[in-house]
Amino acid sequence: MSAVAMTAMAHGLQRCEGCALLSRPAPGATHGECPRCGEELSFRKHDSVQRTWAFLIAAAVCYVPANLLPVLTTHTAAGAESDTILQGVVLLWSPTGWPLSLIVLFASIMIPSGKIVALGYLLLSVQRGSIQHGEQRVRLYRLVGFIGRWSMVDVFVDTFTAALVQLQPLMSVSPAPGLVFFAAVVVLTMLAVESFDPRLIWDPVTASGVRHA
Ligand SMILES: [Zn+2]
Repeated sequence: MSAVAMTAMAHGLQRCEGCALLSRPAPGATHGECPRCGEELSFRKHDSVQRTWAFLIAAAVCYVPANLLPVLTTHTAAGAESDTILQGVVLLWSPTGWPLSLIVLFASIMIPSGKIVALGYLLLSVQRGSIQHGEQRVRLYRLVGFIGRWSMVDVFVDTFTAALVQLQPLMSVSPAPGLVFFAAVVVLTMLAVESFDPRLIWDPVTASGVRHA
């Protein structure tokens, strides 16, 4: 079976972001309202590429202090010591603590940087009008969105670690400035994923008339 892929946009139909109803805007209007739920309609998310870039660049900027500044301060009788995420990974590494160390390494360092690189690649490919690997790029976008929901695991792990440390007498843990930047990276990458419109991946493919099986 081979047919030129036709999009709803090519038929002049808009999909509601709120209830997924397809409808046709009034003649001459580019924006309308969903007849079912009243949500504002547009063919694509507003300024998707620019907004996604803005959130992504902000996330990349915050990623630097999130890793360079201490995230936790440990207070003991001997004094206070502040640790960055990477120092925390090294400190946790022990015959019994290595699984926790690996979780912090993945959740705090590798996943956020991987998300930033993946979204940057998706944006560049859309801006270049690439018609290659559309399906893989959509899968990558879904993966980034899926991982985003698990980013909060790290907050849980940090709290858990702090609780373990608190069990030792005369010791306490408090958040340090790096934690604010880390939370900003998590929120900004989530906003970047939300802003990106995966339908943009297919626009150049449809325009080029490539046939799909
Ligand atoms: Zn609707």
